[in-house]
Amino acid sequence: MKQIGTSVEGSQARATPVFDPATGAQTGEVVLSCRRDVDLAVAAAADAWAGWRDTSLTARTRILFTFRELVDRHRDDLARLITAEHGKVLEDARGEVARGIEVVEFACGIPHLLKGEFSEDVSTGVDASSIRQPLGVVAGITPFNFPVMVPMWMYPVAVAAGNTFILKPSERDPSPSLLIADLWGEAGLPDGVFTVLNGDAEAVNALLDHPGVAAVSFVGSTPVARHVFERATASGKRAQALGGAKNHAVVMGDADLGSTADALIAAGYGSAGERCMAISAVVVVGDGDPLVEALRDRALGLTTGPGADPASDMGPLITEVHRDRVAGYLDSAEAEGADVVVDGREVKVPGGDAGFFLGPCLVDRVSPSMQVYRDEIFGPVLSVLRVDTLDEAIDLVNANPYGNGTAIFTRDGSAARRFRRDVQVGMVGINVAIPVPMAYYSFGGWKQSLFGDAHVHGMEGIRFNTRLKSVTTRWPAASASAAAGPIELHFPSGDKR
Ligand code: NAD
Repeated sequence: MKQIGTSVEGSQARATPVFDPATGAQTGEVVLSCRRDVDLAVAAAADAWAGWRDTSLTARTRILFTFRELVDRHRDDLARLITAEHGKVLEDARGEVARGIEVVEFACGIPHLLKGEFSEDVSTGVDASSIRQPLGVVAGITPFNFPVMVPMWMYPVAVAAGNTFILKPSERDPSPSLLIADLWGEAGLPDGVFTVLNGDAEAVNALLDHPGVAAVSFVGSTPVARHVFERATASGKRAQALGGAKNHAVVMGDADLGSTADALIAAGYGSAGERCMAISAVVVVGDGDPLVEALRDRALGLTTGPGADPASDMGPLITEVHRDRVAGYLDSAEAEGADVVVDGREVKVPGGDAGFFLGPCLVDRVSPSMQVYRDEIFGPVLSVLRVDTLDEAIDLVNANPYGNGTAIFTRDGSAARRFRRDVQVGMVGINVAIPVPMAYYSFGGWKQSLFGDAHVHGMEGIRFNTRLKSVTTRWPAASASAAAGPIELHFPSGDKR
């Protein structure tokens, strides 16, 4: 059994088990940082910042390029670590690493992305410019479901912009972050610029309260996101906190049945539904029977099994407790009158009795008042709701407290346009079930899916990780005072010629 991380408290430190969700066996133990560990990490990051912000853009960019090459070379190692502790199938883990690398590639353009503005002669002999400067120590706190990609939404941009970064990864799957820290070191990043600090709520709260931390990026569940945002901003920090989700796919009567059902199956059951952009509610406009039949046939054809087995389409859930909680939603759906069309509780995984498996679950005739609809489930449960019109579908989506992602499936351009314009959700797909923006756009939801106003990566990420400074400059000639006449006390403007 491996020990992950250290603490100044040595053998007195708290620790928590890490499992292989496919076997249910404990494979490691992660040491949880205390407040003093956080103090040391922040002090080291603050020390490193002085040198890092003075490091030229050329030198920073070269390190980023080298880091990108190293991550690329270690794609499979990272994917194996993800599968071992998270459980998702290897191909999906490789996809996660690929999407993370795209953010590193975006950050390699930092010399261009940080270019300021300059206006000559805004008044006679006066020039104006704006520059963006780094903030200092930035902390990132991340969830279990994307142990490589979600941290990579944050630190490539933060570090490229000249900040130092402390990553507090999920205590459920901490190992990939340690390999990432090694790769940064190999790339030539100075000590203290990127630090992994393992821990739980104690470490998070210490980071939120620490006066040496300038900004906090958080991704996780909505209650914790709200807490992080409120506590970080209360102590004067800049914060962005991305929360949970309940993503709807609206299916119009004219949508192509086969390709829509394929897309919904991938979006509902990929990564066992443990994606913040997973579709969990399908809203069918009109007759829902043909779509439910198509979904049922496909769901029954999926293979649930260990993520490392190439025959598996879907791996286990993250913990036994979480698997049981998700399965409990089928009980409540049945009790509230919904139809359980595919029951994942019946799944049999050869040799996997102790693993945290739950097969795909399809629940039809769900209504908005049911628990299975109201909660974020974060598991392989796809609910089908039936409505009569697009207006009803949009109202349903907009009434939901979450607003992370949504999609519409249709051949009707005007319906798609209405949906895009009127739906109150941060990321919208048109015939695309999981509309995760590319690295050079920005990722983020609305309503209770995001606290704070900055989305991650893309230009919003650059802005979040820097502070704007506007500079007005005059270089008077030596004789200017005498030539200028009497001193004027009026408010300066560009009108004066
Ligand atoms: P979580 O909220 O339990 O944990 C996230 C992080 O917060 C972890 O690092 C954890 O150690 C820390 N944490 C947990 N409880 C805390 C507390 N009481 N105080 C301070 N810190 C605490 O989330 P999770 O279970 O790891 O991840 C799943 C959740 O993340 C889902 O709700 C999912 O929708 C969400 N998520 C959202 C996005 C997004 O972009 N909006 C992306 C991925 C995951």
